[in-house]
Amino acid sequence: MSYFLVKVHCPHCQTPKVKKNGVNGNGQQNFYCKDCRKQFQFVYKYQGANPRIKKQVCEMAMRGNGIRDTANILKMSSVTVILVLRLWFKTHHEPCFEGTYERVIIDEM
Ligand SMILES: [Zn+2]
Repeated sequence: MSYFLVKVHCPHCQTPKVKKNGVNGNGQQNFYCKDCRKQFQFVYKYQGANPRIKKQVCEMAMRGNGIRDTANILKMSSVTVILVLRLWFKTHHEPCFEGTYERVIIDEM
Protein backbone atom coordinates (compact mmCIF):
# COMPACT_ATOMS: atom_id res chain seq x y z
CA MET A 1 0.00 0.00 0.00
CA SER A 2 1.36 3.41 -0.89
CA TYR A 3 0.45 6.81 0.46
CA PHE A 4 0.67 10.23 -1.09
CA LEU A 5 1.43 13.26 1.01
CA VAL A 6 -0.26 16.38 -0.31
CA LYS A 7 0.51 19.73 1.30
CA VAL A 8 -2.78 21.58 1.60
CA HIS A 9 -2.78 25.38 1.52
CA CYS A 10 -5.69 27.65 2.26
CA PRO A 11 -7.23 28.95 -1.01
CA HIS A 12 -8.14 32.24 0.70
CA CYS A 13 -4.82 33.27 2.30
CA GLN A 14 -2.40 30.61 0.94
CA THR A 15 -1.14 29.67 4.40
CA PRO A 16 -0.14 26.03 5.09
CA LYS A 17 -1.54 26.29 8.65
CA VAL A 18 -4.64 24.17 8.07
CA LYS A 19 -6.17 21.25 9.91
CA LYS A 20 -8.77 18.64 9.05
CA ASN A 21 -12.28 19.64 9.99
CA GLY A 22 -14.51 16.63 9.51
CA VAL A 23 -16.22 15.25 6.43
CA ASN A 24 -19.07 16.90 4.57
CA GLY A 25 -22.25 15.24 3.28
CA ASN A 26 -20.57 14.19 0.03
CA GLY A 27 -17.87 12.31 1.93
CA GLN A 28 -15.17 14.87 1.10
CA GLN A 29 -12.66 16.08 3.66
CA ASN A 30 -13.19 19.58 5.05
CA PHE A 31 -10.22 21.69 6.11
CA TYR A 32 -10.04 24.64 8.49
CA CYS A 33 -7.56 27.50 8.10
CA LYS A 34 -6.04 28.56 11.41
CA ASP A 35 -5.12 32.01 10.08
CA CYS A 36 -8.26 33.28 8.34
CA ARG A 37 -10.61 30.84 10.14
CA LYS A 38 -12.38 29.79 6.96
CA GLN A 39 -13.41 26.28 6.02
CA PHE A 40 -12.64 24.84 2.61
CA GLN A 41 -12.34 21.57 0.72
CA PHE A 42 -9.44 20.20 -1.29
CA VAL A 43 -11.72 18.97 -4.09
CA TYR A 44 -15.06 20.65 -4.73
CA LYS A 45 -18.01 18.75 -6.18
CA TYR A 46 -19.74 21.99 -7.17
CA GLN A 47 -17.53 24.56 -8.89
CA GLY A 48 -19.63 27.46 -7.64
CA ALA A 49 -18.37 26.79 -4.11
CA ASN A 50 -14.68 26.76 -5.10
CA PRO A 51 -12.99 30.03 -4.01
CA ARG A 52 -10.49 29.85 -6.89
CA ILE A 53 -13.31 29.55 -9.43
CA LYS A 54 -15.21 32.39 -7.74
CA LYS A 55 -12.18 34.66 -8.13
CA GLN A 56 -11.82 33.57 -11.75
CA VAL A 57 -15.49 34.42 -12.40
CA CYS A 58 -14.94 37.93 -11.05
CA GLU A 59 -11.77 38.44 -13.08
CA MET A 60 -13.51 37.30 -16.26
CA ALA A 61 -16.41 39.68 -15.58
CA MET A 62 -14.02 42.58 -15.07
CA ARG A 63 -12.35 41.78 -18.40
CA GLY A 64 -15.67 41.98 -20.21
CA ASN A 65 -16.59 38.31 -20.56
CA GLY A 66 -20.32 37.69 -20.61
CA ILE A 67 -22.16 35.52 -18.13
CA ARG A 68 -22.89 32.72 -20.62
CA ASP A 69 -19.32 32.85 -21.90
CA THR A 70 -17.95 32.57 -18.35
CA ALA A 71 -20.33 29.71 -17.57
CA ASN A 72 -19.28 27.79 -20.68
CA ILE A 73 -15.55 28.22 -20.09
CA LEU A 74 -15.66 27.33 -16.39
CA LYS A 75 -18.20 24.47 -16.86
CA MET A 76 -20.80 25.89 -14.49
CA SER A 77 -24.34 27.17 -14.87
CA SER A 78 -25.06 30.79 -15.74
CA VAL A 79 -27.25 31.06 -12.64
CA THR A 80 -24.24 30.14 -10.50
CA VAL A 81 -22.14 32.78 -12.27
CA ILE A 82 -24.78 35.42 -11.50
CA LEU A 83 -24.97 34.32 -7.86
CA VAL A 84 -21.18 34.44 -7.49
CA LEU A 85 -21.03 37.91 -9.04
CA ARG A 86 -23.88 39.21 -6.86
CA LEU A 87 -22.19 37.95 -3.72
CA TRP A 88 -18.81 39.28 -4.81
CA PHE A 89 -20.05 42.80 -5.48
CA LYS A 90 -22.12 42.77 -2.30
CA THR A 91 -19.08 42.01 -0.15
CA HIS A 92 -16.41 43.86 -2.15
CA HIS A 93 -17.04 47.51 -2.83
CA GLU A 94 -13.99 47.90 -5.04
CA PRO A 95 -13.56 45.97 -8.27
CA CYS A 96 -11.09 43.08 -8.08
CA PHE A 97 -9.18 44.20 -11.19
CA GLU A 98 -5.52 44.41 -10.20
CA GLY A 99 -4.00 45.68 -13.46
CA THR A 100 -3.31 49.24 -14.49
CA TYR A 101 -5.76 51.49 -16.27
CA GLU A 102 -4.61 52.95 -19.59
CA ARG A 103 -7.07 55.84 -19.40
CA VAL A 104 -9.23 57.24 -16.63
CA ILE A 105 -12.20 59.54 -17.17
CA ILE A 106 -12.93 61.84 -14.24
CA ASP A 107 -16.60 62.67 -13.80
CA GLU A 108 -18.00 65.97 -12.52
CA MET A 109 -17.54 66.52 -8.82
ZN1 LIG B 1 -6.77 31.03 5.18
